[in-house]
Amino acid sequence: MSSQLKEQLEKYYTAHQKLKELKFTYGTAGFRTKANILDSVVFVVGILASLRSKYLDGQTIGIMITASHNPPEDNGIKLIDPQGEMLEQAWEVYATTLANLNTSEEIYDEIIKISTQLNIKLETPSNVVIARDSRVSGPALADATIDGLKVLDTGYKNFDLLTTPQLHYLVRAINTQGTPVSFGEPNEEGYFKKLSTSYKKIFDGVFDGQTPEKVKITIDAANGIGGPKAQHLLSKYLSDYIDFTVVNNNYSDPEALNVGSGADYVKTNQKLPNNVNAEPLKLYSSFDGDADRVVFYYTDAQGVFKLLDGDKISTLLAGFFKDLVEKSNFKAEIGVVQTAYANGSSTNYITDVLKVPVVCTPTGVKHLHHEAAKFDIGVYFEANGHGTVLFSDSFIDNLKTATPSTPHEKRAIDTLYELSQLINQTVGDAISDLLAVLIVLSIKHWDPSNWDESYTDLPNRLAKVVVPDRHVFKTTNAERQLTSPVGLQVKIDEIVKKFQHGRSFV
Ligand code: ZN
Repeated sequence: MSSQLKEQLEKYYTAHQKLKELKFTYGTAGFRTKANILDSVVFVVGILASLRSKYLDGQTIGIMITASHNPPEDNGIKLIDPQGEMLEQAWEVYATTLANLNTSEEIYDEIIKISTQLNIKLETPSNVVIARDSRVSGPALADATIDGLKVLDTGYKNFDLLTTPQLHYLVRAINTQGTPVSFGEPNEEGYFKKLSTSYKKIFDGVFDGQTPEKVKITIDAANGIGGPKAQHLLSKYLSDYIDFTVVNNNYSDPEALNVGSGADYVKTNQKLPNNVNAEPLKLYSSFDGDADRVVFYYTDAQGVFKLLDGDKISTLLAGFFKDLVEKSNFKAEIGVVQTAYANGSSTNYITDVLKVPVVCTPTGVKHLHHEAAKFDIGVYFEANGHGTVLFSDSFIDNLKTATPSTPHEKRAIDTLYELSQLINQTVGDAISDLLAVLIVLSIKHWDPSNWDESYTDLPNRLAKVVVPDRHVFKTTNAERQLTSPVGLQVKIDEIVKKFQHGRSFV
């Protein structure tokens, strides 16, 4: 095995050698940097994905090539674990180590080291699925990744263009195929069917065969891959339900990706994206480049731009779930998870008006996801629009086996169950989150201003201050207080004390 491995590695490594001066770190978003220096990195990620799959007895691992909302010349790569979740944190270290090795001998030694340490049998079959967003660098990076997969003889399927959440769906669907907890058909159409079926069931259940007015939405797709995917889903499966327009839908022009458009642009600039002339009180939305986040917005009667960000999505969904749980006569613990960046007004609204507990965690999806998983219904959205809702297994089981005593209860229970299917629990998903929001607004007969009225953001300012060494700033209490440099927190507290509902953090 080992001489054969050495041979294979040398054969493929020649085309993917690392430049010595480069340094890489696997973070929350995987590896992410300029696309033109990623070749050697994606090659070893292919090797690591193979090892991960062998370690997990051949379960399928996902590899997504994307740089999300970042400019067209960037790219990145990240691994997806078998249930559609992020790569186990302990393995991030192996990823970083492998990416910084400079020769095929070093890589060989590291493969042997990891497999010995973790008792991985290299002859165990391994399986990987791979996909990419619409960047021009995507196909070559996918090929380099596949060369990495070949080193350890890994079976793979290249799905080519997908949104990030679609690949998360597929990984879980493949690994649960034919089991009692099957996530859905293990192909792209299965994803569309799953979402649209739940959407229709909720709608038809609530409106009881009547045809309510179609809900209207404009989607700014950031010229990314979310555009054609949303278009396909909405036109093929939901055209009787949703009246939609997709703008900035030119994914075949990779240079246009996230330029003057998309969730990050709209949120950062607090203005409409290119090619949107907003009609007052109509709902608009923006995806990011790989469609794992979404923000909404509208213009009021005076034509003033109003953003409905992740905080607003959280409050909308948490309030709706609270209602449904009450109507279903069920016991369920609902919670909302936020970070220090959430507007204090949203936190007050959730706590005081909705009477739903709020947990604050450090930034980073893994922290939010982990906390949300502790509730029966855990809602988390970062202000930037990335988030989802998690449902506990026991709660879903209760829904499935419930014996409602009135039609009213039955409808609430059915709606809860279908929402748990509609919402992509593996990861934030712009398309799935969009459908969830549209359902809630339709059922409540709300226009965007009704949604927005729930609370008004406290005035806030986010500022970047350049310091000689950012590492001297150490935080505690979910990044809301400083422990170092000593004395600074006291000074902040003194100033903040002068303002009612004031809050400030470094
Ligand atoms: Zn993204």
